Amino acid sequence: MINEITEDKSMITLTGKKVSEERIEVSEGIAIGKLSFYKRDIKEIRHIYVKDVEKEVQRFQKARQKALQELKELYETASKEVGEANAAIFEMQEMVLEDQDLVDKVTGIIVEQKLNAEYAIENAAENFIATAVENDKNYVQGHDADVWDVANRLQNILARGWKDKMLMDEPFVLAAGELYPSEAVQLDKTKVLGFVTRYGTINSHTAVLARTKGIPSVIGLGEALKKDYEGKTIIVDGFEGKIYIEPDYTTITKMRQKQDTNHTKVQNLERLKGKENITQSGQKIDVCANIGTREDIENVLRSDAGGIGLFRSEFLYMESGSKPPTEEYQFQVYKLAAESMGVKKVVIRTADLGGDKTAECLDLGEDKNPAMGYRGIRVSLDKDDVFKTQLRAILRASAFGNLSIMFPMITSIDEVTVAKLMLEKAKKELKNEKTAFDEDIQVGVMIETPAAVMISGELAREVDFFSIGTNDLLQFTLGMDRQNEKLDRYYNAHHPALLKMIRIITNNVHLEEKHISVCGDLAADLELTEYLIQIGVDELSVAPNQVLALRKKIREIQ
Ligand code: PEP
Ligand code: MG
Repeated sequence: MINEITEDKSMITLTGKKVSEERIEVSEGIAIGKLSFYKRDIKEIRHIYVKDVEKEVQRFQKARQKALQELKELYETASKEVGEANAAIFEMQEMVLEDQDLVDKVTGIIVEQKLNAEYAIENAAENFIATAVENDKNYVQGHDADVWDVANRLQNILARGWKDKMLMDEPFVLAAGELYPSEAVQLDKTKVLGFVTRYGTINSHTAVLARTKGIPSVIGLGEALKKDYEGKTIIVDGFEGKIYIEPDYTTITKMRQKQDTNHTKVQNLERLKGKENITQSGQKIDVCANIGTREDIENVLRSDAGGIGLFRSEFLYMESGSKPPTEEYQFQVYKLAAESMGVKKVVIRTADLGGDKTAECLDLGEDKNPAMGYRGIRVSLDKDDVFKTQLRAILRASAFGNLSIMFPMITSIDEVTVAKLMLEKAKKELKNEKTAFDEDIQVGVMIETPAAVMISGELAREVDFFSIGTNDLLQFTLGMDRQNEKLDRYYNAHHPALLKMIRIITNNVHLEEKHISVCGDLAADLELTEYLIQIGVDELSVAPNQVLALRKKIREIQ
């Protein structure tokens, strides 16, 4: 039973996804605030009657001004990067936006037909293109795609309510049908107190992000999470996977107490800062942190982690809009990570895009089976310009701290060889340019496919370190999509096959005297800490706010 609804006077209680009776949470914590539904960039333009047409025209005009400003900025950047001739396309788009015919068409539809701006833009754009010839609009001919680009830009701006909310409003609890990782990565933790969704699984990257950012979340509430709850007070209990809408006094008091208890627990853990990750019998293990964005670096510093064991760099691409992050931008972020951590290590995983991690700036095409499709190192080796840009950025940042590079989704020695060749090429370029970098930068790979497990001995002769991505390794071992809600009850994170694989990899890697860590979610599973230490894993890398709880667990082990 996923969604039990209990109505106590006006209070509504909904229960989210349960994986098993013991494991419920997506991301722990209590959040209390007003509920606000996420408005996604519009794909399907709905036809909505509006009462206040003047307000709707104003909405359109505001979006038009914003679009003009964006196009001006795009023109400036593009002129610098690709020259004025190539940037002219944005000037042409500005002309479309300023064309009085188009503006009149849109406002005409809003005023005369009392329809919403999004729909009016869609219809007006269609008509504008169709009548371009008879209206002697030569500049539009052959530029249908640009007119649509302008229309999409306007529609996207109109849908940006929630992002503006993050800039202006009071903190709120975000609700959505489903929240994609590329959207979750943009959540501003100071504004989004928590998030709740109708669909999704606790194994998705959205859930991973919620844990990394420490945002209390409940997912899989189903259709019972209604749009009517917009603006109502909500409590998110990320510990129990429950939400309360219009909570009564007793519930609010109970939840505030729970919040206080959790706060005290977190404060008590603070005492472990500066202490070793050591068992009672003296066995030590490194505990590092996983991050995805530059904002997370601060959380790592606060967490007292031994370093950054996994920087999911793909999130930089996912929050980068229509263009991939430049070398300079990436360099600045990696340099910040390196400098902030000082002598502690920072493992930058090269972009692991694909699957549920899509980025507007890279066209990955359609995959029939995205989890098993065009992703990770496969994309990097294919889009070698984008890959080399990233490698150059990492190498440049390596001059400022203790950085290493890790390749994701490895299945063969060949992939490692080609990736290393690309790294050598980037090094050579930098040398020729007399740019500083760490010549001995360590190179590692993720072990997250059964193929990589089977060749871990051979891989150990090729690279310096390894990290086990238990999230993907589990889905590929079980042959079950980690995103498929119907498979939740079969999805056994403690499956003996997975535990046995971790042992095999650890042995193989240690035979070559190389370093092995676990950076998938299993690293934070306190029920397995003892097992992982006992088989000799060298490092566990977890979300920043899980570091101290893990340290506590390690110190309690005999
Ligand atoms: C993993 O697969 O366990 C992992 C750490 O990578 P990601 O979750 O980002 O796919
Ligand atoms: Mg993975």
